[in-house]
Amino acid sequence: MSNIAQVIVNIPARSIDKPFSYLIPEQLPAIDIGWRVLVPFGSRKVEGFVISLEDEPTDGLKSILAVLDDYPWFNDNMLKTAEWLSRYYLCSPAEAMRLFVPGLSGIKSTKAYQAAHAIDCEQASILLAAKPAEYRTVLSYILDHGPVSQADLAKLPGSIETILKFLLQHKLIIHTDTVLKRGKASTIRLINLTVSKESAAQAEQALPPSKSAQRRLLHALIQTGELSPTELRNLHISADTVRKLTSQGLVASREVQIFRNSYNTIIHKVDEITLTTAQQQALQQIGPVLKAGIHKSFLIHGVTGSGKTQVYIKAVAEARGLNRQAIVLVPEIALTSQIVARFQAAFGQDVVVMHSKLSVGERHDAWRRLHSGQAGIVIGARSALFAPVDNLGVIILDEEHEFTYKQEDSPRYHARQVALFRARIAGAAVILGSATPSVETYHQALSGEHTLITMDKRVDNVPLPPVTVVDMREELLKGRRSVISPALTEMLAEALFRKEQAVILLNRRGYSTFVLCRECGHVLKCRHCDIALVYHTPGHSLRCHYCQERHTVPDTCPECGSRYIRYFGAGTQKVEEALNALFPTAKIIRMDQDTTTKKMAHDKILAAFAAGTYDILLGTQMVAKGHDIPNVTAVGIISADTALNLPDFRAAERTFALLTQAAGRAGRGNKAGRVVMQTYNPDHYAIVNGGMHNYQGFYENEIIFRRQLNYPPYSNLIKITVQAGDEIQVHRNANQLAAELSPVSANAATTVIGPFPASVAKVKDIFRVNILIKTKDMAEVTGHLANLNIACRKDVIIDIDPINVL
Ligand code: ADP
Ligand code: ZN
Ligand code: ZN
Repeated sequence: MSNIAQVIVNIPARSIDKPFSYLIPEQLPAIDIGWRVLVPFGSRKVEGFVISLEDEPTDGLKSILAVLDDYPWFNDNMLKTAEWLSRYYLCSPAEAMRLFVPGLSGIKSTKAYQAAHAIDCEQASILLAAKPAEYRTVLSYILDHGPVSQADLAKLPGSIETILKFLLQHKLIIHTDTVLKRGKASTIRLINLTVSKESAAQAEQALPPSKSAQRRLLHALIQTGELSPTELRNLHISADTVRKLTSQGLVASREVQIFRNSYNTIIHKVDEITLTTAQQQALQQIGPVLKAGIHKSFLIHGVTGSGKTQVYIKAVAEARGLNRQAIVLVPEIALTSQIVARFQAAFGQDVVVMHSKLSVGERHDAWRRLHSGQAGIVIGARSALFAPVDNLGVIILDEEHEFTYKQEDSPRYHARQVALFRARIAGAAVILGSATPSVETYHQALSGEHTLITMDKRVDNVPLPPVTVVDMREELLKGRRSVISPALTEMLAEALFRKEQAVILLNRRGYSTFVLCRECGHVLKCRHCDIALVYHTPGHSLRCHYCQERHTVPDTCPECGSRYIRYFGAGTQKVEEALNALFPTAKIIRMDQDTTTKKMAHDKILAAFAAGTYDILLGTQMVAKGHDIPNVTAVGIISADTALNLPDFRAAERTFALLTQAAGRAGRGNKAGRVVMQTYNPDHYAIVNGGMHNYQGFYENEIIFRRQLNYPPYSNLIKITVQAGDEIQVHRNANQLAAELSPVSANAATTVIGPFPASVAKVKDIFRVNILIKTKDMAEVTGHLANLNIACRKDVIIDIDPINVL
């Protein structure tokens, strides 16, 4: 029998990348691969994950202390996915495995106080006699309750800090660390009869009228069989009454698990809709794959409003019919409440929604419902990918091109990659959907890696809205300086006149962006981060968006002393003012980072706008995404090209996707839509094709550029960032690392670029230098990187397939 467990300890230290051996104690024979356990580690008790069993000699090994669950937390599929994550993304096994644990850890340690082992109560009372009564209360509370946290003690009267200090000083109590399991299941006690209804009725009769509460309880139990605490309260039955009947052997209680109701489900009634031909054709391809239980991936390239969501719902229904589970990923749950509502309408309690506002306890409940099979569908942002589903049938990634699918902290995984791996080993289908697929995914689809399904018409053949492109350079030549062109004004006026709604997208945030000296061209930058400071009207302040430091606006230029310091660029507030001036009666709601953190969350703003409370929704990228509001007929895009000049190889892709998605919000119902796009680059292919909803046109231009410069999908990128507090040191370290990489650059398939300072060369006084690797041979490069062991260096960040290369 194997009695040694190999355990990955769940601590974030990246330098620990090996499992440790622990003895499985005899009283915990169930421990097996995949279990979460509590183990001693140094002087601490930590969570651990069992990854394998062995039977070696057992000398000197420490024992596992406890199990955290009564079932294996990780199934085989989850273990394999974690192993792959750690290999592909070069993170430690613990970093990969903790992704599967809500809140990243199953336990929490708290400081607690308990009575000293050798406490002499008589001596203690002599010592405390001279002290106020609160001292004795605190000590006897600790004596009675065992280890108690400071939070618990804070409820007691008196100045608890002083009292504890005194008790510690005189060695009456000691500090301890208690480890509590997080996300314990909530339970309630249900009261029921232990005798037959007839006997209970006889007992009720036999009770004197004065015992009316006992009679009421028996009576109610005869009627309903079982009572919850709330029902007992409503019947005005006290715990004492229950106890009395329990001691007479008439009633008993049992404990049942309840699930915190985190997402109030409103079950809408849905009319069975007839699928469009395109939807049917999509499902004809997906259905057989689900039935066969084989892995296959699909890319649904469907224009905005083509009915992709309905295909997802039907595919999930098909998987559920086969008793297989589904993971549905959306880029951001707050912006996608409509898709969530549609899944809930279709599947009710079978859906678990992973919302970022859920507490760790609620996350655990959600996980338990999936694990126990009480729910079969999980919908959420990228972290829902790590749900404990045993019988995976399909993973869906809606808006697969969105960058939020990439995690920006270690492990820097991309949800699409992980989904494809997890589904492959589970024999499950993957459905990627987008109106603007990422260039990489589309390229893979064209080369046969995914089955391409095209849905090129909107439901009911509703036309895509025509786009008017306004050349802002010409506007300037004509002397028009307003941020809102006449064409945009006219479109808005017409929509407002017809009581329709408008969305205005501004690819920026704040009142104005940077502050520039008109005489010498100096731009005010953050002294810690080397990045332009952003001007914010409230408080008339400058803020660094990287380190959040605030500065006051100088009266004169710090470079040349000129007084002509002026604000550049238009922010949402400025546009709002311009709109107010043009349309004084229109009700405008602004949605950007400033308003969503202060006033209302995204979903509330969107809901109010959808309900018709506002005429115009104005905001940054967020207004472009996901919503389906039939009364929106006008979409205006101010400075369509802001993102185009970012020094990033995906700038054109970002711009095209944003424009197409924004335009896609217009005219989705039975009213015709229109779009006005303002730009300084009307000839750029991202703008030209964006104006024509022409994905293929965009792709054909973009793929040439990618091939010429050997960017993804023609290569994989790896970004290595070296950090140090000292500028000379950081360059020295980076150069040394680059030298160690020379064996990989010897391979013709691989190029090493740099070291070069990161585009934000300094953050919070830490200097950053990048090395970029471009390769057609990922396995070789990551293998070499793994051998160099740089993944566990604290001063090095490895980003595999980075979204941001600078
Ligand atoms: P997409 O996700 O492709 O942008 P949606 O799934 O949101 O598109 O569909 C657009 C609109 O068309 C929605 O209002 C949806 O309810 C409606 N719709 C989808 N499929 C059908 C159908 N078969 N018949 C009628 N209306 C449909
Ligand atoms: Zn100046
Ligand atoms: Zn800064």
